[in-house]
Amino acid sequence: MGSSSEDEGEEYLFKIVIIGDSAVGKSNLLSRYARNEFNMHSKATIGVEFQTQTLEIDGKEVKAQIWDTAGQERFRAVTSAYYRGAFGALIVYDISRSSTFDSIPRWLDELKTHSDTTIARMLVGNKYDLENIRAVSVEEGKSLAETEGLFFMETSALDSTNVEKAFEIVIREIYNNVSRKVL
Ligand code: GDP
Repeated sequence: MGSSSEDEGEEYLFKIVIIGDSAVGKSNLLSRYARNEFNMHSKATIGVEFQTQTLEIDGKEVKAQIWDTAGQERFRAVTSAYYRGAFGALIVYDISRSSTFDSIPRWLDELKTHSDTTIARMLVGNKYDLENIRAVSVEEGKSLAETEGLFFMETSALDSTNVEKAFEIVIREIYNNVSRKVL
């Protein structure tokens, strides 16, 4: 539909940001997705700024430049430069710490302040492997996501559950939004 021969070889580059409280697993979600690595003792302050992952959608090369706060949130609010130009966001909490879920509305507000309201957003309940000490129910996560119009997924950066899926849903949604606009 709508794709012409001129579209072939076209490339897309989208910025995606990961936000959420300290130690919810943002850096590990990114390293699991981009490098298939996990670090049990990662220091939130030592992080790379972003990693790029390439996907093929409709025969087109779609690059996601995924940004990690690299611990900025520990000391002060994340700067507006972090959000600038973002087409998508993963807003992460830790299913074993309810305080990280309680912070989500604040993160959503911050995101709304600094970015376009039409960006693709996913609420991510990370550390799904810690089911035995779960403090936030699946229903709570789902219900907040529904109210706020967000995609929702529970993930584990530790055992890889749904990590690729979560990022790819956001990337595909951005691609669909953009290609709809272009057509
Ligand atoms: P960030 O501060 O949000 O970037 O969090 P990190 O990625 O640095 O992770 C904080 C801590 O949580 C580290 O000790 C990680 O090993 C641990 N962690 C991250 N993701 C998971 C996960 O899915 N399951 C478990 N059990 N631990 C995790």
